[in-house]
Amino acid sequence: MIEYPALKLFIDGTWRSGEGRAGETVLNPSTGGALGELPHASAADLDEALPSSARGFEQWRKMSAMERGAILQRAAALIMERKEAIASLITLELGKPIAESRAEVDTAAGIVVWNAEEGRRAYGRVIPSRNRGIQQVAIREPLGPIAAFAPWNAPAITPARKISSALAAGCSVIIKPAEETPATALAIAAALVDAGLPAGVLNVVFGNPALISKKLLSSPITRGLTFTGSTEIGKQLGALAVQTMKKMTLELGGHAPVLIFGDVDPEAAAISAVTAKFRNSGQVCTSPTRFFVHESIHDRFAAKLSELANAITVGDGFAATTKMGPLAHARRIDSIERFVEDARARKIAVSAGGERCGNQGFFYRPTVLSHVDDDCMASNVEPFGPLAATAPFRTMDDAIRLANRLPFGLASYVMTHDMRNAAAMTEAIQSGNVIVNHWQASLPETPFGGYKDSGVGSEGGIEGLQEFQTIKYVSQFAG
Ligand code: NAD
Repeated sequence: MIEYPALKLFIDGTWRSGEGRAGETVLNPSTGGALGELPHASAADLDEALPSSARGFEQWRKMSAMERGAILQRAAALIMERKEAIASLITLELGKPIAESRAEVDTAAGIVVWNAEEGRRAYGRVIPSRNRGIQQVAIREPLGPIAAFAPWNAPAITPARKISSALAAGCSVIIKPAEETPATALAIAAALVDAGLPAGVLNVVFGNPALISKKLLSSPITRGLTFTGSTEIGKQLGALAVQTMKKMTLELGGHAPVLIFGDVDPEAAAISAVTAKFRNSGQVCTSPTRFFVHESIHDRFAAKLSELANAITVGDGFAATTKMGPLAHARRIDSIERFVEDARARKIAVSAGGERCGNQGFFYRPTVLSHVDDDCMASNVEPFGPLAATAPFRTMDDAIRLANRLPFGLASYVMTHDMRNAAAMTEAIQSGNVIVNHWQASLPETPFGGYKDSGVGSEGGIEGLQEFQTIKYVSQFAG
């Protein structure tokens, strides 16, 4: 295991440590013990970061997309060189099994590579003119300095995606990663800095989230907002950002439905679902959560899923036998306990888990609630933790109603061998991603975004890059 590093801010090209600043203690979720002290950015730090970001933008936008791409490529190579150290930081700060952390580092580097390559393809459009001698083009220009806010659940991937997409589009970034997982985000930032990023192109700050977001979003310097987190906070930040007409990407909550049709082997479906469900202790916005299973196979599916959930080894992410780590912080334990209490009060079967485990840290057993109704908490509120809810459906119309009845629409899953079911569901489900017969909801090259309260805009793919650009129309008369 590596030593936990001294935590810093990165402002205007220099690393800043505590030096009299306020701060907070970062906890190890596997022990509940302290990992380190995180300095908070002061108002003066933010006053320095904002104009620094404006200067960084002026320099960065004038570099060619190839030069920018070369720096991003070097950063991705450094992330891979430092893979083992960064993976250890993820497991220390978030608690997930080290194999999952290694896979996260691979994905983070893969996203940076994809953006490095794709940034050079910011093609515009030539629009045929109505009159001879007039040339008309629509070109893509970088938006400007971006205010980015990343949560703790994918502490390498989310900062890597937000920063590298914005940089590849030609923008500068001020990012506030999660205070729960700062060392991982700083390791991603360090790779970019060491790869040759000019001062001001990236600033990294931590502190009181509400104060930082208010300051960064009230400023006319930042021209774009990218946030990943809860719907409630996303709406607050969106309302702030619109005051200065910032373009925004909001990746918010989900509550992914899984529709399992009667032509599927229920035991095989449970075997594939259990890994997807309890990955990262279920703290994934695309985590499959509401399992609607055809009534002919529901009970067999629920029994197998519960059996498999009960067999999961929960423990410290560095232990070789661990299949699921702790939850990220004490708030998540409190939240999951409320779902289970609500289910018990309604006489809903808790067919796996339903309790904390271990005598330290934030561990909770993988939990399955079966035969949930429409009214219970698990059917309505995103658990964002190791909790699956199952319920039977009879007709295709029932399945569509259940899938679409919430204000969320991020990821959704369908399991069937019948193409007619698959076609009907991919058309009817109101969500940004519909995944049929597997669980891979996002890749560096694919767009990822939500319908309804799950968000605005896309991350990933060319769509994600274009969120950080704006269109300029140019018309020139040659004569
Ligand atoms: P939260 O909404 O309090 O925090 C989520 C993230 O937003 C954190 O990183 C936090 O620092 C940041 N944040 C909070 N208030 C902010 C503000 N005023 N300005 C800027 N940033 C702010 O939730 P939490 O308790 O940490 O996590 C639980 C909920 O968050 C879940 O229910 C889930 O919906 C949501 N969440 C979603 C994702 C996702 O990938 N979409 C990731 C993490 C959390």
